[in-house]
Amino acid sequence: MKCKGNGKAAATPCAACKILRRRCADKCLLAPYFPPNNPHKFATAHHVFGASNILKMLKELPNDRRADAVLSMVYEANARVRDPVYGCAGTVSQLQHQISHLQSQLAAAQAELLNLRTEQANFLSVLSLLYASAGKDAAEPVSPSTDCTDPHEDHDVEDLFSDEMDPLMLWNPSEHK
Ligand SMILES: [Zn+2]
Repeated sequence: MKCKGNGKAAATPCAACKILRRRCADKCLLAPYFPPNNPHKFATAHHVFGASNILKMLKELPNDRRADAVLSMVYEANARVRDPVYGCAGTVSQLQHQISHLQSQLAAAQAELLNLRTEQANFLSVLSLLYASAGKDAAEPVSPSTDCTDPHEDHDVEDLFSDEMDPLMLWNPSEHK
């Protein structure tokens, strides 16, 4: 909402002019960015940067970049009010800390995934060996202790060769690069 400080009674000054207690001119530089319905926005930026610095920065910028500059100044001012010591730098540092924490969590999860994939590949190769030897001599029962090199595997071999579960169907070479 653009204010029209043309002296008429109905004209509402922009939030900046109202706070600065000055007449809001027709071509008020601050009016497009500080509407009267949001006085807090200018109050914070004014408190941190000062009205003259805000005006100076806006004058140095082309029209199409001024709205972004105002947003940035208001954001920085709010951060400075929230954290008077570090301001925006505090937020940046906090986010960088969060990024490094999440990166280390991601690295741990990727290492665990790699371990699990290696275990799965080992397990499936043992299964396919068992399956191949069972196919050669179907009449002869296969003992898990002869072919299975992993002492942790105590599955019943009869279960492994049931009709419902074909171990070779579980093995997908494209997944194991
Ligand atoms: Zn104004």
